[in-house]
Amino acid sequence: MAGKCRVCGAPAYARLEYANLQLCRDDFVRFFERRVERTVERYGMFERGSRVAVAVSGGKDSVALLHSLWKLRGKLGVELVAITIDLGIAGHSDRYVPLARRVCERLGVPCRVVDLRGEYGFSVDELRGLRRPVCSLCGAVKRYVLNREARELGAHVLATGHNLDDFLAALLQAYIRGDLKALAKLRPYLPPEGKLVARAKPLVETPERDTKLYVEALGLEHVTWKCPYSSGASSFEYKRVLDLLEEEHPSIKFQMLRSFLERIQPLISVEEPSLLSCSKCGEPSSSPVCQFCRIKSMIAKLETNEARLTSSRRRGPGFERAASPLGSSQTSPR
Ligand code: SF4
Ligand code: ZN
Repeated sequence: MAGKCRVCGAPAYARLEYANLQLCRDDFVRFFERRVERTVERYGMFERGSRVAVAVSGGKDSVALLHSLWKLRGKLGVELVAITIDLGIAGHSDRYVPLARRVCERLGVPCRVVDLRGEYGFSVDELRGLRRPVCSLCGAVKRYVLNREARELGAHVLATGHNLDDFLAALLQAYIRGDLKALAKLRPYLPPEGKLVARAKPLVETPERDTKLYVEALGLEHVTWKCPYSSGASSFEYKRVLDLLEEEHPSIKFQMLRSFLERIQPLISVEEPSLLSCSKCGEPSSSPVCQFCRIKSMIAKLETNEARLTSSRRRGPGFERAASPLGSSQTSPR
């Protein structure tokens, strides 16, 4: 890249249009970590002495988050543990889980690997039959498992790698749906509530492009392939729109974040229903049965119907015809 670092005059590694700034590799790394530190402080994410559980999927964001928090752990006075969920996605899990383990091992951060199929009874691949976008179901499953595991590890806060672009994509989605409840809860930091562990997004002020530059600057191993279900994630379209805006108006993403958090969100008032305990698993839920348990029972119904259909096929065509109406109504995800 042509140009020189504004700090030390060495050849530039990164050009940050939003700040009209060019930085060499080392100064960019320092800039990145300083911003993570400032974000943690600005939103009061961690108290000194806290145990912070970091959700590590092996993707660039979670690797950048773990690495930067690891470098800042002394300054921030926190202890780190990592949680990786083996989601049971064929051709994907068997690659990212060992990678996440390696990333943690290199830093000496203890890593709890949760086997979704072995410990919770199903895999993300099984969500395909539920006639709802796999990513939205997978998101709910991950939120549930991460909260439960973080609590069981004695963590005070669960930190996730959601970056500025993720945050704004969620903001646009909630805005378009007119989902005031989601807009009210869209925060860089959510304090603990009952059995819900506090949740923090220390990369909320970091554009997605910068996390890529950070992992590349430090040569950090990270997932470079895509989850097979990622094309179904609507957030990609929102991010494309945000990038188009940013091209014409550098720093508009930061402006959106600031004006939402400082001017718009304080005006949103929604009545929060009190948090219940799921009647099946006892985990926190806004309804009598939590979303995770509802997903589990939908999978169980689907399996029962498939087994019924298979056995009727074995017995002959007459049985199959008789069984299908029952099968199709019971496979409904709702
Ligand atoms: Fe889950 Fe979708 Fe992410 Fe894959 S892309 S891990 S299915 S949320
Ligand atoms: Zn439940």
